[in-house]
Amino acid sequence: MRVYLDNNATTKIDPLVRVKMQPFFEELYGNPNSLHQYGMEVRPHLNKAMGEMYDALNVPDKDDILITSCATESNNAVLKGVFFQHILKNPEKNHIVTSSVEHPAIIETLMFLSDYGVDVTYVDVDDNGGISAQAVKDAVTDKTILISMMWANNETGMIFPVEEVSAFAKEKGILFHTDAVQAIGKVHVDLTKVDVDYLTFSAHKFHGPKGVGGLYVKKGKTLPNLLHGGEQMGGKRAGTLNVAYIVGMGLAMRQAANHVEKMNTDVRRLRDKLEDALAKISDTIVVGPREKRTPNTLLISLRGIEGEAMLWDLNRAGIAASTGSACASESLHANPVMSAIGEDPELAHTAMRLSLSRFTTEEEIDYTIELFTKAAERLRSISSTYAYTNEAG
Ligand code: PLP
Repeated sequence: MRVYLDNNATTKIDPLVRVKMQPFFEELYGNPNSLHQYGMEVRPHLNKAMGEMYDALNVPDKDDILITSCATESNNAVLKGVFFQHILKNPEKNHIVTSSVEHPAIIETLMFLSDYGVDVTYVDVDDNGGISAQAVKDAVTDKTILISMMWANNETGMIFPVEEVSAFAKEKGILFHTDAVQAIGKVHVDLTKVDVDYLTFSAHKFHGPKGVGGLYVKKGKTLPNLLHGGEQMGGKRAGTLNVAYIVGMGLAMRQAANHVEKMNTDVRRLRDKLEDALAKISDTIVVGPREKRTPNTLLISLRGIEGEAMLWDLNRAGIAASTGSACASESLHANPVMSAIGEDPELAHTAMRLSLSRFTTEEEIDYTIELFTKAAERLRSISSTYAYTNEAG
């Protein structure tokens, strides 16, 4: 049996999305910016896909959705855009507030910008991996131009207080960006309820194709281009449009929005079943109260067992999970969010993330419970560190 429980890293393409994309590789391959028949015939499909995204976020089309190559690009576009548009012109307002557990696409871009005079405050997470709205408010100064806070964390699934922080930002006249990559399809992302200026998303996290993402930009909050060189996207992002992927992303986003209820009933029930069973293994720690997490995510530490050792045992049994963000796993073997939560360094090395999707089955979860429990017993029986820590109390 093969079980894929790494859906926060990427997801399989929804079969309906794959079928929908197919004609755009074969017959409907014209450039939508061309004036001939080949170009004209794809335009309505492009417009429909854009409409699906506007509907999914519940935003009017006077706002913009820029199509990008991925969420990393969307995050770079916002942070570098705010730098060029505001900070470079008015260095008095050079302060950005973010959380210490953002994706590297935010953290590393901000580290790059700090070499150019940007002052960044990284708000720490609490013991549950959560962010307090008050801590974000307290970090703001009269120099703050932007708050960038993710909607939900990729490691823990913890949902951050975007509604309260965005309302505060608006009241103070501060720009607000949210990386909603892990929120789309898992919680209701309704921008009539949460007032954001910029919002990042990525198709491959919600059963769409890889290599395409988006950036919502509120009317009047236009950013300078990251990519210059053409009139595509109303001149706001150059490069020939990848119609097949955009069409795929449109349908995938509609599907994701339509499945939020299923995620919060069926998928949540499976996640909770998995969590309850794994939490029975002795000396485990699950991060974050489950009602404050996205319904598909579980981050668990098994004291005395290296996350990577566990990962390999599971992999041999056909189960795919993760020890940390796929973007960090090549360089870091400690889970970055566990490190940020911080009290006990061992936890960062023993963390395992299991993330489900709407395609996960009960049979797969039962198999995972059985194999995970066996792997934990096996590894504990051979782990001298665990025996030592246990003896030491
Ligand atoms: N932001 C978050 C919260 C993520 O989880 C990820 C991917 O793991 C990204 C951004 C980057 O997404 P992409 O692969 O589309 O660049």
